[in-house]
Amino acid sequence: MPVRKVTYRLYPSRTQSVALSAALRLHQQLYNAALEQRIDAYRRRGVSLTYADQCHDLTALRQECPEFATLNCSSQQVTLRRLDKAFKAFFERVKTKGAAAGFPRFKSLARFPGFGFKSHGDGWRFTPGVEWRHGKLRLQGVGTIKARGQARQGGLIKASELLHRDGAWHLSLTLECPDITRSSGTEAVAFDWGTETFATLAVGEEDAPTMETVENPRWYRHEQQRITDLQQAVSRKRQGSNRRRKAARRLAKARARTARRRLDWQHKLSSDLVKRFALIAMEQLSVAAMTRSAAGTVDAPGKRVAQKAGLNREILDTAPSQFLSLVRYKVQETGTARLIEAPTRRLKPSQTCPCCGTVRKKALSERVHRCDVCGTTLPRDFASAWVVLRYAHGVLKANGSERPDAE
Ligand SMILES: [Zn+2]
Repeated sequence: MPVRKVTYRLYPSRTQSVALSAALRLHQQLYNAALEQRIDAYRRRGVSLTYADQCHDLTALRQECPEFATLNCSSQQVTLRRLDKAFKAFFERVKTKGAAAGFPRFKSLARFPGFGFKSHGDGWRFTPGVEWRHGKLRLQGVGTIKARGQARQGGLIKASELLHRDGAWHLSLTLECPDITRSSGTEAVAFDWGTETFATLAVGEEDAPTMETVENPRWYRHEQQRITDLQQAVSRKRQGSNRRRKAARRLAKARARTARRRLDWQHKLSSDLVKRFALIAMEQLSVAAMTRSAAGTVDAPGKRVAQKAGLNREILDTAPSQFLSLVRYKVQETGTARLIEAPTRRLKPSQTCPCCGTVRKKALSERVHRCDVCGTTLPRDFASAWVVLRYAHGVLKANGSERPDAE
């Protein structure tokens, strides 16, 4: 059964935060104590302690130090297992790197990532909301914590980790997912990446597709503006000053949040697409090529540098490559849907007339496709998507490899 990890953001109350931090500190102390015990045993007796040895000693530790007994026992075993893994990885590195392999280190509280739990119900229980949107985490000794997020697909809850990052708590669940995304659609769709919109779609038959647009989410512009403002705030502050550090932290937080929201949004959009369509076609993407130095070189200075730089920024912002990889793996999961990646350079979707195939260069500013040969007039992005759709149908008819004439 495929195993998947999903992350929810946790919203503990003030008292719950205190309890979580206390648990984190005890796990960190346990980790460091167990590391010291291993080093000690080796120095004094030449003995390498195992995970099983340390689990055995944990029982004694819980009896001697009552504060350690307040934690869930199997959760403490997860921490011991983490140390064990660090040692195993170290011994692996020794084989290849010799003396240069870094020895497992004591961890400060700031660098201690969190703690985990094993069997569901043993000290913790997660109750997902409707369709795995949001939920509640009940934690031994802490209470019921609100969780926000959404699993793309539910499953059997196997294990969890509570991760502490940048002052926020996250719950990472390990799920066993029995089923996979099913595609019930029969239609075809082709994509053109937008600049003002996220994408323009050509849906349906190759001779008469319909146009749909996918707008950027509503929060998108707002978040971009906020990031720009915060960037300016950072650069206004004196280098090395406390204020600058604080501003930089706010900026990093805002960026992380935008990235998280974008990923959530792209997950949902790609799932919807894969459910709806049997055939999805896109241009082969090379963001590197799309964003390569608009400024050009000294010998060949770029034209329309500012406009291209703007376009590049938008392309990076909407992150088509991330989206494409989401679509790619979801399509694979269905086992029935197909993804066709059209060779951009050979096909030239943005310069080709979808009706008669005439190729004519368009400037970036031309938002309408007007064909001098057959008289077709269409929105530029839709015309491009249609060209890709035709290509996809052609590949389907050729009924063989994905790209019969790839570059
Ligand atoms: Zn034409």
